[in-house]
Amino acid sequence: MSNWTVTSLRIGELYLPHGAGLQRDPIHVWLARDGQHNVLIDTGMADVALVTKRLKVEGWGGGHATLTKVLAEEGLTPGDIDHIVLTHGHFDHAENLDLFPDACVVIQRDEISHAADPVPSQRIYYWASTIGNLVARRRGSQIRALDGDCDLFEGFRILKVPSHTPGMQVPIITTEKGKVAVASDLGDHYRYWYPADPRATDRPQRSLSDAFMTGNIRSESERDWQAAMRRVRDASDIVIPAHDFRIPVRVPEQWFAIPESTAGDLAHEPPPSPTS
Ligand SMILES: [Zn+2]
Repeated sequence: MSNWTVTSLRIGELYLPHGAGLQRDPIHVWLARDGQHNVLIDTGMADVALVTKRLKVEGWGGGHATLTKVLAEEGLTPGDIDHIVLTHGHFDHAENLDLFPDACVVIQRDEISHAADPVPSQRIYYWASTIGNLVARRRGSQIRALDGDCDLFEGFRILKVPSHTPGMQVPIITTEKGKVAVASDLGDHYRYWYPADPRATDRPQRSLSDAFMTGNIRSESERDWQAAMRRVRDASDIVIPAHDFRIPVRVPEQWFAIPESTAGDLAHEPPPSPTS
């Protein structure tokens, strides 16, 4: 029985317009290790200068340099990554693939076709560089397209959960303390998973105590999204949301379903000062 560890690696932030202020979204990738495999879950965004140029949002980090640096802090080079699991193909999750020419990229086939021809509202989120990097992987060892759920390795299951995108997939990883779902943008903050809990959100919604909150960016229906979140919750003990500052850095050493409080949820902070 293999026991995995999952490490959350922060590779940058984006400051998104939100009302009169800005919503600060940390950008993460995750490293799953079992002593045999080094699996990278998502590959993050391009250098922030390019993101700012294209999408007119500020931030920091991203790109090959930051990704290489955070991997080095874990004692790894890009060449040590043998598999890459892409939760979906959006620009803040699936850039930098050319840094890993020898890794096998695992992605849902539906996500590849959606990346090439997305719903109109998601066109800005699928970058040609991601699609180019996917189709450039001509060797069978470089890409594996899935058509649904998959047991990638012992203790490493992938669920296909159409919601945010048609080919959304969530790894369910077995650790010595239980199963962790790397939920990505299926519920990218704790408040989506626990909308009625004051530890998860400063605006708890009692009406949603038996349900989940869904995001606005979606290709599938709200009902499909509810079913997807329920499926992931039923299959796991804790979830890691993609863009929440409070996620555990190391699992299973840090093991919690909900953070202790909303402190540290910087989702609605005023714009950071230029000097900070
Ligand atoms: Zn996304």
